[in-house]
Amino acid sequence: MPLDAYRSKRDFKKTPEPAGDVLAGTSGRFVVQRHRATRLHYDLRLEVDGVLASWAVPRGPTLDPDQRRLAMRTEDHPIEYLEFEAVIPKGQYGAGDMIVWDWGTYELEETDAPAAAVAAGELKFRLHGERLRGRFTLVRTAGRTDDQGRAESGDPWLLIHKSDEQAEPDYDAESLPRSVKSGRT
Ligand code: MN
Repeated sequence: MPLDAYRSKRDFKKTPEPAGDVLAGTSGRFVVQRHRATRLHYDLRLEVDGVLASWAVPRGPTLDPDQRRLAMRTEDHPIEYLEFEAVIPKGQYGAGDMIVWDWGTYELEETDAPAAAVAAGELKFRLHGERLRGRFTLVRTAGRTDDQGRAESGDPWLLIHKSDEQAEPDYDAESLPRSVKSGRT
């Protein structure tokens, strides 16, 4: 089941995170969370057929087209995570604070089948967020697929911003520390 990996890592009596319900067929929203866990990273999540396909980006997303950012594929998260910000308590998976760093919608280019694009290891899309805008590519650099052709958790991908009108040399996500949802840091 799509959220099995997500649920198996968490104790919902102890974490404020949502257990999640899969909503069939909805796609098109995204969120980026700044997650101050053991290591600070940003989580990019794209809504794909009722779940959030997720990548952990250690250095954060950038609008600088000369920077390629490592994006490690992580387990699919529930739709409710689109609005999630809270402190995950000590001892729980991903312990640390998490804010909504950006959110909005994405538009696939060249295909309208996001799950197939994720499985194939290459997504080209346009982000319409409050901070992130313009054209991006997410491409798997190595990895395996499971027996249903799904990309596995833990695979390295690269997140690249195209050279477009939204490009900004030397863009650093860390210079924008506040939540777009609550203004919290
Ligand atoms: Mn994370």
